Amino acid sequence: MYGMGLIKSLLVTGKRFWNTYWDDLVWSFRRLTGGEKRYYSAAGIKHRSSKDARGVFTVQYPEERLLLPEEARYIPFLVYDEGADGKIEQRCTSCGICAKVCPPQCIWIVRSNDPQTGRPVPEPTEFYIDADICMNCGFCAEYCPFDAIIMDHDFEIASYGRNVYNMEQLLKPASYYQSIRPVNYKRNEDERKAKEAAKAAKAEAAS
Ligand code: SF4
Ligand code: SF4
Repeated sequence: MYGMGLIKSLLVTGKRFWNTYWDDLVWSFRRLTGGEKRYYSAAGIKHRSSKDARGVFTVQYPEERLLLPEEARYIPFLVYDEGADGKIEQRCTSCGICAKVCPPQCIWIVRSNDPQTGRPVPEPTEFYIDADICMNCGFCAEYCPFDAIIMDHDFEIASYGRNVYNMEQLLKPASYYQSIRPVNYKRNEDERKAKEAAKAAKAEAAS
């Protein structure tokens, strides 16, 4: 029927309008009975970040931030493990795969050599990512064979200068990786343990 599309779209707008005030009323009622506020509360932001959020709402940024899904990705960072003595153990072997697959070519790595033998050391001396060029595609993290480079959740990186991150800025502990991506971290760790177990079993069988 002529005009049905227009009526349907008005109904959608009306539903949104109603839901907005209805959600506010429901949360106000909950508040009267001892519940948390819809705004400026952990429960409120969790609700508005979920698929159950209804109607239109405003996020009071920067006081409030929507919760990010685990797979959200901004600039990559380099993961390091903490040794027993608190020593930084870099996962990166400076293999260069991430730099090779990076579409806009914004990763630079300087490899190191042993000063005595001249042989390559599996660790970078310098590692740079030009965050102004990075397009957050995540290829570097996908292709890294050592889970050494991971996409970060930190998106508040605006500055007045160039954002070229060096190794000091890029290195973050594995515990940080675990805190922002618990599911991915667990999967990586399980895979790593399975590989180590298979390697140990192979070595035992060969001996
Ligand atoms: S981050 Fe990964 S892919 Fe990139 S150089 Fe280091 S080990 Fe290789
Ligand atoms: S996320 Fe993409 S663009 Fe950014 S450094 Fe990694 S591969 Fe390059």
